Amino acid sequence: MKYYSLNYNSQDVSFLDAVRKGLAPDRGLYFPSDIKKLPNTFFENIHNLSDHEIAFQVIHQFVGGDIPDSRLKKIVEETLSFDFPIVPITDSIATLELFQGPTLAFKDVGARFMARCLAYANEVEKKEKLTILVATSGDTGGAVADGFYKVDGINVVILYPKGKVSEIQEKQLTTLGENIKAIEIDGVFDDCQDMVKSAFIDNDLIQNVALTSANSINIARWLSQMFYYFIAYKNRLHPEKKLVVSVPSGNFGNLCAGLVAKKMGLPVDQFIASTNINDTVPDYLNSGTYTPKKSKATLSNAMDVGDPSNFIRIQKLFNNDIFKLKKILKGYHYTDTETKKAIKEIHEVSGYIADPHGAVGYLGLKDFLKNTTDDYQGLFLETAHPIKFVDTVEATLKTTVEIPKRLESILNREKTSIPISRYDELKSFLLKR
Ligand SMILES: *Cc1c(COP(=O)(O)O)cnc(C)c1O
Repeated sequence: MKYYSLNYNSQDVSFLDAVRKGLAPDRGLYFPSDIKKLPNTFFENIHNLSDHEIAFQVIHQFVGGDIPDSRLKKIVEETLSFDFPIVPITDSIATLELFQGPTLAFKDVGARFMARCLAYANEVEKKEKLTILVATSGDTGGAVADGFYKVDGINVVILYPKGKVSEIQEKQLTTLGENIKAIEIDGVFDDCQDMVKSAFIDNDLIQNVALTSANSINIARWLSQMFYYFIAYKNRLHPEKKLVVSVPSGNFGNLCAGLVAKKMGLPVDQFIASTNINDTVPDYLNSGTYTPKKSKATLSNAMDVGDPSNFIRIQKLFNNDIFKLKKILKGYHYTDTETKKAIKEIHEVSGYIADPHGAVGYLGLKDFLKNTTDDYQGLFLETAHPIKFVDTVEATLKTTVEIPKRLESILNREKTSIPISRYDELKSFLLKR
């Protein structure tokens, strides 16, 4: 499979090259040159396939000959070392839990897959050591740190805003050691993001250090998010009903992966882009004009994105035809007050504790179902464990959220971070390594 740049000004590259590069040299996002439908028999027999077999068949065409089948199978097995349970909330609504991975974030899937593809690339190509540079507002960093921990040939440098991430998130970033370095920036998330952007266009730096990113612009992270849409289809609770999936969205990588799955034939009837007040995409679906906005802070902060990077891929999937897109994708947006009300409502009707992101997904689903007379089974993605947003959840429900066993050990570990306040400090740190 070849990948081309959506800025159309770079050479086509193979899967592994696109994974190593992240962005194309013309700063465009990579996009697969072809997306083939899976055969009907795949969907008819899906109940007989294990999660690993499903994932292997789904990703195979995108990796092509770049990774031998036996190794790709192993990568998939190591990536999916946990389940994706579906938990009913009402008769027509259930949640798909994506947070059962090691850092309790759905980003574990993409980070683990990407890390293992890069490890393979390093083995066969024997290129120079790669440095993964990421800015995090909390969730991405932990998943990336864990996914790349002790992967040969890769250093990870994570920038996070001092005092602006939760205690658990900070521990996940700062206690691993080995090839993972946490940089504590005296500033806010946007300052971290700006420094990362400066680094990627700093010729001095990129000539000396092989830098890449690990966010959802990377095709390995983006495409592997398809796995759980197919697995959810296999496990759906009401096979006789049409399926609608609501995706709480920020940078729109997760939703875009779902839409690729649909293009490959996955029988999902409708998708819903559910956002907080950072409503650029729902606004586009309603008005027809795409107007990027400055991001605003909300309780569902992993979705505080005003100009989602992956939206260009979604448009490409529909040949930039908004009418085709609108047939399949509906958009809704919600305030923090509505989000808290939803957390309460979900708890009252089912006893389930949702995090603020999942709650936004639930609201989108409810509004969609209200406006249709068709008989749907609705799934909203639960993208993080409620413990990661414990302050909001506990204050809203007036109850305590239990810390999952696998997190307890991390809380006693020692934090190690490097405090930095200016870009030139970051640059010299990267050059020294
Ligand atoms: C990253 C994240 C999202 C948004 O996902 P995108 O792919 O960027 O749209 C939603 N919820 C949580 C908890 C996240 O960490």
